[in-house]
Amino acid sequence: MSKPLLGQMMDMPLNVSMLLTHAARSAGDTEIVSRRIEGDIHRYTYRDCERRARQLAQALIRRGVQAGERIATLAWNGYRHLEAYYGTTGFGAVCHTINPRLFPEQITYIINHADDRYVLFDTTFAPLVAALAPHCPNVKAWIALADDVHMPSIDAPLLGYEMLLAAEDGDFEWPILDERLASYLCYTSGTTGNPKGALYSHRSVVLHAYAAAMPDAMGLSARDSVLPVVPMFHVNAWGIPHAAPMAGAKLVFPGKDLDGKSLFDLMEAERVTYSAGVPTVWMGLLAHVRSIGARFTSLERTVIGGSCCPPSMLREFEEEYGVRTIHAWGMTEMSPLGTLARLNWEQMQRPLEERRRLLDKQGTAVFGVEMKIVGSDGRELPHDGVAFGDLYVRGPWVIERYFEGTDSPLVDGWFPTGDVATIDRDGFLQITDRSKDVIKSGGEWISSSDVENVAVAHPDVAEAACIACPHPKWGERPLLVVVRRPTGLALTREALLAFYEGKVGKWWIPDDVVFVDELPHTATGKLLKVKLRDMFRGHVLSSVQEGATNV
Ligand code: ADP
Repeated sequence: MSKPLLGQMMDMPLNVSMLLTHAARSAGDTEIVSRRIEGDIHRYTYRDCERRARQLAQALIRRGVQAGERIATLAWNGYRHLEAYYGTTGFGAVCHTINPRLFPEQITYIINHADDRYVLFDTTFAPLVAALAPHCPNVKAWIALADDVHMPSIDAPLLGYEMLLAAEDGDFEWPILDERLASYLCYTSGTTGNPKGALYSHRSVVLHAYAAAMPDAMGLSARDSVLPVVPMFHVNAWGIPHAAPMAGAKLVFPGKDLDGKSLFDLMEAERVTYSAGVPTVWMGLLAHVRSIGARFTSLERTVIGGSCCPPSMLREFEEEYGVRTIHAWGMTEMSPLGTLARLNWEQMQRPLEERRRLLDKQGTAVFGVEMKIVGSDGRELPHDGVAFGDLYVRGPWVIERYFEGTDSPLVDGWFPTGDVATIDRDGFLQITDRSKDVIKSGGEWISSSDVENVAVAHPDVAEAACIACPHPKWGERPLLVVVRRPTGLALTREALLAFYEGKVGKWWIPDDVVFVDELPHTATGKLLKVKLRDMFRGHVLSSVQEGATNV
C-alpha cells in the first residue's frame, strides 16, 4: 500500500486571538462604540481594544491564572466584555459567560460547576454578586468592570478592572495554542433540570466565525456598523464578537438598555446598518418606531432568531421599513449557528408567495452543518417539507459532550437537537416545535409555533403562546394564551378564533383562548412554556365544558 501523501501547507492552529489581532492590524481605526452603564457613550478602536485585552491577559497571568482555568463574566454587551472575551481566551484561559437573568441558585450552581477562578462583573450586578459570593468559595476574587470612582461597596473579595489594567504595559504576545483547546464555556438556560455546559474550542469558534461572516450567512462586512442586541452572555452573541473583528466591521454595544427607544436612538446615532436579536426585542423596537411614526435611516439588515419569528414581524420590517430580515435557527450546543433563510438566484425568480413561504422558514444549513430528520422508528425521513421528525445535526462546531458530562449525547455521531422539524426539497428547515412542546391531538401533531404565528398576525395581538391542554377525547388540544395590544383590548375569543378560519387546518384551531397581561419568558426572552403549562394546569377547555371541539 502506498504511503498517504500529506498536504504541504502550514499547519497553523486556528486561535481566537487571531481574530482581534487581525482587526487591530487591518481595521485598526475602526470604532467600537458602547453605551456604558456609567451612562455615557464610550468610543475607541480595535487597536485600543487589542492592547487592553493584552493588559487583561497580563493581569490575570500575574494573579496566577493558568491555561484551561475558567474566568467568568456577568456583563452586558460592552467594550470591557469584549476585552474579557479576548484577554482570557488569548492566553489559553476559558471565558465562561454567565447569563445574569438566570435564578441566583442556577448561577451559583453554574459558577461552582465550572469552577470559576475569577468573575468579571458589570456593577449593575453588584447586589447579585453580594448574594452569590458566600456560596462560591472557589472564586478568588470578583472583578468589577469599573474604574476606582465607580467601584461598588459590597461584602465580597473585590478587585477593580481598570486598576488591574493600569498596572500592566500591554507588552505581551499571544501564545500559539493547540486549536483543540477550550476557549468558551456557555451553559444552556436549563428550563428543565440543571444547566449544562457547552465547551467550545478555539478551532470551533474560528470556523464558526468564518461561516457566520459569509455573505449568505449572517453576512458581515467591513462596511457595516453592527449592533448586537443578542447578549454576549448568551451563546457568544451568536458569534458576532468574532465575526465582526474578522470582517473589520464597526461594533456598537447597547449596554443594559434594550427597550425600543434606547435601541432606536443608538441605531440612528451610530448609523447602524446591521443588527441581531430575538423576536421579543424586535417587538419592543417596532412598537416604539410605530408609536412615534419614525423610519430607520441606516438599518439595512437584521438577523432574527432564538425563537420562531412570526411572519407578520418579517413583513413589517421588510414592507413597512425596508429592512431586510434574516430568520435564523441555532442553539447553544451549536455555537449557535445552524440555518439561515436566504434565497438563491433561482429561488429569487419564483412568485412572491413562494419566496415568502421559504423566507418564513428557518432556512438552509450554513456550510459546515449537516442536518437530518428522523421518525419515531429511528429511520431518516424524506426532505419533502411535509414529513416531520426529530432533528439531528453534526459539524465542527456542534457539541460532542457536555462539560464534565460522562455520557455522550450523540446518537451514531449525530446530536439530537430536541427540536421537531421538516426539511423541504430546497433544503429549508422549518421548526415545528421543541419536542416537549408539540401538541398531540388524536394521534396527529399540531405545531404550536404555527398556531402562534396566526395569532400574532392579528392586529390586536401583541404576543401569543399555544400550549397543550388535556382533552378527554383527543388526548390534547391547543389552548391559546394571548396578550392584546394596548389598542386592541376589545378583541374577543370568538373574533380571534374566527381569524383562524382558512389559515390553518380546522383541527389546528385552538379550542380556547385566554387573555393575560403578560406571558412568562425564559432568561433569554423565549416563551417559558413549562411555566405556562403550570399556570394552566387545571384549565378546563371551553370545548370540554361545552362538550364540543373544533375538530
Ligand atoms: P436554551 O436552550 O438555553 O433555551 P438556545 O439558544 O440554545 O437556548 O435555544 C435553542 C433552541 O431555541 C432551539 O433548539 C430551538 O428550539 C429554539 N430556536 C432557536 N431559533 C429558533 C427559530 N428561528 N425558530 C424556532 N425555534 C428556534
